[in-house]
Amino acid sequence: MVASLLEARRELALANRIVANEGVIDAFGHVSMRVPGRPDRYLLSRSRAPELVTPDDLIEYDLDSQPLREPGVGQYSERVIHGEIYKARPDVMAVCHHHCPAFMPLLATGTDYVPIFHLGAVGGIRPPFWDQRDEFGDTNMLVVKPEEGASLARALGQGFLVLMKRHGVTVVGTSLRDCVFRAVFSARNAEYQVRALAIGSVSALSPGETELAGGISKKTTGLDRSWEYWTLRVAKAGGVPPAAKPRAGSRRKAARAGGRKAGRAKR
Ligand SMILES: [Zn+2]
Repeated sequence: MVASLLEARRELALANRIVANEGVIDAFGHVSMRVPGRPDRYLLSRSRAPELVTPDDLIEYDLDSQPLREPGVGQYSERVIHGEIYKARPDVMAVCHHHCPAFMPLLATGTDYVPIFHLGAVGGIRPPFWDQRDEFGDTNMLVVKPEEGASLARALGQGFLVLMKRHGVTVVGTSLRDCVFRAVFSARNAEYQVRALAIGSVSALSPGETELAGGISKKTTGLDRSWEYWTLRVAKAGGVPPAAKPRAGSRRKAARAGGRKAGRAKR
């Protein structure tokens, strides 16, 4: 559980770095989260490679993907993916959009994603495809208009994964850690599935197995265990994000409190 906004900011910066460190996103792609206690707002980094995101890069948006304050920095062009999904799915607390290489063969051929091992069940059975061309004709392939984001959210439906033809994938979760867990293990599954297809026919999990195995991230300690492991890997790579800087008002308060403490110590 993320207790405060400062903690949430640090956790989200770390989530961006984890998903990058695990090879799901590179210079592009992004992870967002709903603001704790404010279901009408979400946090997303300024336009920056996710592996470099710090808590202070995070911008607060309303669900129309408008920043609450003019950020004075470049913003991600595809942020409507996040805002429109948060609007459509009150249960979704975090969203990850990526163009992971492991998925590209499936996205180019329109081959269904199927879970081929227990952890791959996080993506569900045959998650939907969305083809921007169907509704919007020729575009530059980026999801930048609210109506494009809303169309993608409709395709996602009540699932956790939507495959974007010739583009990428969008993954959602009921918490930030759930979203990261689904993003990483669905990417692993896609990699194994494509490799398996090269040597023979694929034996997928049954619908019943998928449903049972899909609950792993909620019913076991797997979620926290994975988070701890991925955090260690980020640390080993020297990529732990710095702590969030308190806002100016909080800094003044902290300074006053520090001054009082110092005064007491002297006495
Ligand atoms: Zn994209």
